[in-house]
Amino acid sequence: MARKFFIGGNFKMNPATAAARDAIVDTLNKAQLDGSAEVVIAPPALYLLPLQQTLRKEIALAAQNCHTNDSGAFTGEISPAQLADARIPYVILGHSERRTLFAETSDLVAQKTQAALAKGLKIIFCIGETLEEREANKTLEVCRAQLDAAINLLSPADWANIVIAYEPVWAIGTGKVATPQQAQEVHAALRAYLGEAIDANVASSTRIIYGGSVTGASCGELSSQPDIDGFLVGGASLKPEFVTIANVKG
Ligand code: PEP
Repeated sequence: MARKFFIGGNFKMNPATAAARDAIVDTLNKAQLDGSAEVVIAPPALYLLPLQQTLRKEIALAAQNCHTNDSGAFTGEISPAQLADARIPYVILGHSERRTLFAETSDLVAQKTQAALAKGLKIIFCIGETLEEREANKTLEVCRAQLDAAINLLSPADWANIVIAYEPVWAIGTGKVATPQQAQEVHAALRAYLGEAIDANVASSTRIIYGGSVTGASCGELSSQPDIDGFLVGGASLKPEFVTIANVKG
């Protein structure tokens, strides 16, 4: 099955003002998008509803996180039911910043994934190893364990609504992009693992995207790797070069 290229922009907690946000949206709205990729941006939660009004319809919105519960006494959280009710189609879960700075475990990320899928949301499911883990040859062990928590909770059909983002922690926000060979090696191994742990259909149809310091300059060679189905872009998603990345397959 052909896998449509997927380009996600993770704004993280940026930008700091509505004026700067509107400048980014203006650039995206005026850009020529060639349609070769599904394009999704994840602004801070505060900006989701304004952007739903102002962002061109070819670009979809994602939240950067959600809770497991639909409502309740969870100050500061946003629920999958609220996102679904607001017609926000995607949510990023398991980003390394959530895992490391906010102590989210793989089990919690899997529970959030299950809860979000139950509300009809689509998931950008992030995994990836630290530098220490890579140097100890534990990259695949770590990524598999992060996937396993979800594989154990979900059914094979659920994976049609999940994009896996392989984001080596050492490459996120560091300017150290993985080489196309490094990324391809992990993506191919992850795809093989989906085949072993779930089934051949999930392995061939699930999009596995790369994240970690992707720029307009580095996206070309990465995009030509057979198992790289797109990118999750942080810093460069706030800049005009995000359009270059979104059109890389065109
Ligand atoms: C990210 O936050 O998911 C990311 C990949 O960030 P950056 O592109 O800035 O490394």
